[in-house]
Amino acid sequence: MDQNCIFCKIAAGDIPSATIYEDEEFRVILDLGPASHGHALILSKEHAQDVCVLPERLRAKVLSLAARIGAAMKQSLGCAGFNLVQNNGRPAGQTVFHFHMHVIPRYEDGPDMVNWTPGTTNPEELEALAEKLHAALEL
Ligand code: AMP
Ligand code: ZN
Repeated sequence: MDQNCIFCKIAAGDIPSATIYEDEEFRVILDLGPASHGHALILSKEHAQDVCVLPERLRAKVLSLAARIGAAMKQSLGCAGFNLVQNNGRPAGQTVFHFHMHVIPRYEDGPDMVNWTPGTTNPEELEALAEKLHAALEL
C-alpha cells in the first residue's frame, strides 16, 4: 500500500466509498465524477501505477470482472451498452496513478463520449509500424 495514494486507501476501505463489489483482489466503486449514471471504477487492492506493472494474475482477472459488472449494469440500470476504459499515463488521460478500469454505462440517446476522429494512414506506414511493434513484442 502506498500511503500517499487515495485509491489504495479507498481499496483498503480506509476511506469510505460507494462499493458495489469487493473480493480479495479488487474493490469496485462508483465514480465521484461520473461520465454517466452508474459509472463504476474497478480498483486493484494492490498498488500498481498502471496496467504495465499490474501483476499478471490481476490483469487476467480484471476483464472478466468488468464483463460481470457491465452485464449487471445492463440488467439493473437499463443501459443499452457500456464502455471499458483504462487510462495509462498522463497523456492518455490518467489522473490517479493507481490501476483502475472504468465501466461506463451507455444509454440510448445518451451523450457522445469515448470517441475520436479517425485519422488517415497508408499501407507503407502500416507495414513499418507493424514491423516496429512486432519487434518490440518479441523483446
Ligand atoms: P483516470 O482519469 O482514468 O485516472 O480516472 C480517475 C477517475 O477517478 C475519475 O473518473 C474521477 O472522477 C475518479 N475519482 C477520483 N477521486 C475519486 C474518489 N475519491 N472516489 C471516486 N472516484 C474518484
Ligand atoms: Zn495505490
